[in-house]
Amino acid sequence: MRVLIVEDEEAYVQALSAAMEMDGIEPIAATDGREAIRLFRSTGVDAVLLDLMLPSVSGLDVLRTIRETSVVPVIVVSAKDSEADVVAALEIGADDYLTKPYSARELIARLHAVVRRTSTADMNQSSTFGNIVLDASRYELRVGDATFPLPRKEFEVMHLLMSGGGAIVTRDQLLDEVWGLGWGDTKSLDQHIRRLRRKLEASSEAPAIVTIRGVGYRLE
Ligand code: CA
Repeated sequence: MRVLIVEDEEAYVQALSAAMEMDGIEPIAATDGREAIRLFRSTGVDAVLLDLMLPSVSGLDVLRTIRETSVVPVIVVSAKDSEADVVAALEIGADDYLTKPYSARELIARLHAVVRRTSTADMNQSSTFGNIVLDASRYELRVGDATFPLPRKEFEVMHLLMSGGGAIVTRDQLLDEVWGLGWGDTKSLDQHIRRLRRKLEASSEAPAIVTIRGVGYRLE
């Protein structure tokens, strides 16, 4: 596994690189946003650890750039007092986050979890339901004539709802399978459902995401 570490604090870079190498992970380090984007494009990496507070290009902009072309797992790192940044990062498509200070051991456990989660999930199948198509090769949702590129988590939520063929998908199931056991964020799930509903409104004949109170959701 090769991991891009985007971090401007030299002490963190050194400690993380050493811990990763001990764990058999190959670290590649970038100390500012511009270098991060350059290295991301020129080397294939299996995951990205992204500090949000960076000189030159901000961490959020780096994340946006990565997500334009890639669904690689990204863990963002924030300072204690910047909850807004974390929320923004999760909305753009970060897979997990850590708050400084954190231990290298915790980070590595999270890295393995996020890579496992994103590679074993059977998200490569396209599916259809009524007049909507979820295209797994392009990470797109087509609703009637409208096409929406989906951030990874929205794609995964939609995929679970569609693969059930109209069966109820519980909130716990969505949180576990999309966010990972233990890291689920119910507010974030609500937001993803809301955003998907807005896209489904593009066609009056599209299925709707129906809330089953206290249980979960299903497509109807
Ligand atoms: Ca920093």
